[in-house]
Amino acid sequence: MTLAETLAPVVDLIFPPRCPLCGEGLSAQDGLCSSCWNELAIPGEPACTMCSRPFAESVAHGAICAPCMADPPRHDGIAAATLYNDTSRRLVLALKHGKRIALAPMMARLIASKLAFVDENWLIVPVPLHRWRLWRRGYNQAALLAREIARLRGAELTVDALRRSKATPVLGGLGRKARARALKGAIAVDRKRRSKLRGAKVVLVDDVLTSGATSSACVSTLKRAGAQKVVVACFARVLDEMLTQA
Ligand SMILES: [Zn+2]
Ligand SMILES: [Zn+2]
Repeated sequence: MTLAETLAPVVDLIFPPRCPLCGEGLSAQDGLCSSCWNELAIPGEPACTMCSRPFAESVAHGAICAPCMADPPRHDGIAAATLYNDTSRRLVLALKHGKRIALAPMMARLIASKLAFVDENWLIVPVPLHRWRLWRRGYNQAALLAREIARLRGAELTVDALRRSKATPVLGGLGRKARARALKGAIAVDRKRRSKLRGAKVVLVDDVLTSGATSSACVSTLKRAGAQKVVVACFARVLDEMLTQA
């Protein structure tokens, strides 16, 4: 029995488990109530072979979505636990700004359920936070998720494989080209981790995947360092059609 298990009944007595989103009473500390759970949009099939973007209608097996067709991605797949909606947004914000780091294991479990192919031969790498933001917030939410995913899949966590070499402006509101320009040279491989990445299979982890500009920059950097495969994993995926086009 671990310490956490020994303490669980005591913790439950002092802090009766509640749904972190709506405050509804729960039978266990770690999770959502069934109505909040049902609000999460879990992406399913049919979906794009390259990026798992769900298709509205049934399509032929092996179909590729229009964005992937127009601009073939450098990644080797996207594993999203949920599609971005009000419920997933509130979870992401609670993890990021509300210091609800206790949400990380539950959110990571949902991501890991989309990563059944990941085993001890994979590296788990979080999208890095610039050190100023890290210093202000005290933790990198992507690293919290990455740590749990590594544990759940028995894979190797390499928390510092990537780093931000410059602070980047907020990318929301910038067009595609401007975003790419703002990120040019912003993400680098840590020199000490270079040999580990050569030929590696990598899961790149972030909490939210929006335009994909940041993750694309990370994927390119990892591939330049010799990574054989990079799968992008996130908790909430924003589909392009949900973004206001700049
Ligand atoms: Zn709830
Ligand atoms: Zn696609």
